[in-house]
Amino acid sequence: MQTLINFCYLIAAVLFIYGIKGMTLPKTAVRGNQLSALGMLIAVVAALADHNVISYGYIALGLAIGATIGVVMAKRVQMTEMPEMVAALNGFGGGASLMVAAASYLEAQKLENLVNFVPSLDWSVALIFGILTGAVTLTGSFVAVGKLMGKVGDAKQVKLYKAIVKLGFAILLAGSIYLVYGNPLHAELLLLALIVVCLILGVCLVMPIGGADMPVVVSLLNSYSGLAGSAAGFVLANNGLIITGSLVGASGLILTSIMCKAMNRSLVNVLFGGSMAAQAGVSKSENDAFYEGKVKVSSADEVAMLLDSASRVVFVPGYGLAVAQAQHATRELASMLQKKGAVVKYAIHPVAGRMPGHMNVLLAEAEVPYDQLVEMDTINPEFPQTDVAIVLGANDVVNPAASKDPASPIYGMPILDVHNSKTVVVVKRGLSPGFAGIPNELFIRDNSLMVNGDAKKVLQDIIAAMKDL
Ligand code: NAP
Repeated sequence: MQTLINFCYLIAAVLFIYGIKGMTLPKTAVRGNQLSALGMLIAVVAALADHNVISYGYIALGLAIGATIGVVMAKRVQMTEMPEMVAALNGFGGGASLMVAAASYLEAQKLENLVNFVPSLDWSVALIFGILTGAVTLTGSFVAVGKLMGKVGDAKQVKLYKAIVKLGFAILLAGSIYLVYGNPLHAELLLLALIVVCLILGVCLVMPIGGADMPVVVSLLNSYSGLAGSAAGFVLANNGLIITGSLVGASGLILTSIMCKAMNRSLVNVLFGGSMAAQAGVSKSENDAFYEGKVKVSSADEVAMLLDSASRVVFVPGYGLAVAQAQHATRELASMLQKKGAVVKYAIHPVAGRMPGHMNVLLAEAEVPYDQLVEMDTINPEFPQTDVAIVLGANDVVNPAASKDPASPIYGMPILDVHNSKTVVVVKRGLSPGFAGIPNELFIRDNSLMVNGDAKKVLQDIIAAMKDL
């Protein structure tokens, strides 16, 4: 039986690896997701059968309840609410690992008849680590959900949170040593107190981080939930959990590092630097002074005429496209241009929007063909041959200051070189800065035109104007 169970874990691990590989390309992402789900089903059944204490009836019931909740949640959630759902699922994962670790301690202590209970060092380290990462993931993820929903604001007392975190870690260290080596009389109460400390740590670690940095935090918490699962695997001596947890932990860390690199920010700056706009942002008057009298304002009619004669057009989507929900209008305009014989592409910056893959998800919803989505490094050399680049609610990811101005907070962040196009049309509601809170020289360049308005409305006006040509 044990050989069969270990074989199932191996199959599940292989499916997870192929699943993650599939998710690296939009074209294979759905298949990757299905492979991972199959792997998870095999791993769950094998893990429950492993202990031989749970009846198959309960396993089936648990699977049915869990699967029903999952399907209902996935069907109901809007595309734009995906980051919140991912964060909540991370939190549940962390909570599950926390409970497994705590229950394992109580069970082991009971078996050893309380008095002689002296756990080994490696088991104890896995236990405390599992409790810490599980609890931090649980509460940290739900603070992140609150921030993503706009219900929890950016914390003002950053120093207070940092002090609580330091105190919490000190209490955890002392309490853990006493729990493991002190043979305390009321071990259950001490364990409960340590769990509460870890839950508070999760809140205090995430509260001071700016709301706009939540995608990085969610990705990091995703990695923590994997590490918590892996630690629970060591506590239970369960190979399946160790493998799965390590895969999630490693892939979450890699994604976090990719996001930080694409923003040219260190993880330490994201986690402990406070909100980026608050650190770097310019005042409204400074922002207005930067643009005063220098922006060439255009109209939907003028852009329609420009597009009518363009043979190469690149759409550059950003966060504003998501706010405006303009993906379908973008696709409609693109199809019109293609019918007229123009070559149309979409330039995708790795951190455009507010979550990894945000633009891919939005454009996939509008059924934009995958082969028209072109990544930054591939599209950048093509901008000099592009007749019109249409920037739709993107700002920081097209700001030339990132490559030219060493004093800029985004200096070093790779950008889409739209300024090299023959004409750039910028569509945004006004002159507000983007996430980084700084002005953008692109908007006042000689080859730039700006159409003010909500991206969806402006696109609809351009479509209407093109029909009238
Ligand atoms: P951005 O720099 O945040 O700029 C978005 C622009 O959209 C704003 O300037 C805004 O200007 C405009 N806008 C808002 N609503 C609009 C609407 N309804 N119609 C038209 N325009 C609208 O966006 P980005 O260029 O996509 O850059 C993303 C930023 O987020 C980067 O700094 C990145 O580092 C950061 N970030 C990304 C992630 C991620 O995972 N993707 C995670 C954390 C941080 P108006 O108000 O004037 O319209």
